[in-house]
Amino acid sequence: MTLMASDEKVNGGCMCGEVRYEAIGKPVNVAYCHCIDCRGFTGAPVVAWVVYETQKVSFVKGKCKIYESSPGRGWGFCDQCGTSISWEGESFGKIVTEFHISTLDKPDEFIPDRHWYDSQRLPWFDVADNLPRYQIFDYGGKEPTHHGPK
Ligand SMILES: [Zn+2]
Ligand SMILES: [Zn+2]
Repeated sequence: MTLMASDEKVNGGCMCGEVRYEAIGKPVNVAYCHCIDCRGFTGAPVVAWVVYETQKVSFVKGKCKIYESSPGRGWGFCDQCGTSISWEGESFGKIVTEFHISTLDKPDEFIPDRHWYDSQRLPWFDVADNLPRYQIFDYGGKEPTHHGPK
């Protein structure tokens, strides 16, 4: 029997192994985000997220410590090693948990297919791809402002 897309399971966790998570099924989105908040949380010039509905996510070891930047916007990290792991909150009608692709055991399995918050991208950073770039998000049927580097 072939594994159906809806049964696919991924695992990941922090650098020290104290926090381990799993997610089941197809992600809602796989995207780069250039926004100031994502950069502030990680200290990185850009992040790559894989987004799941929270009901498909469970922590199999430990739990993220949550920093709430505002009510309902939770940034998860390991309080032992400090790894930035997740974002949780409501996103366009869905309760989601987003994981940094780099925290997956097999990060090569997900390839971002869009850029969010191109409007806040650091001017010296770009990726030589031809993916759609959105001023903020693509949710709500928003059209990309352009494709590829400008
Ligand atoms: Zn850790
Ligand atoms: Zn962001």
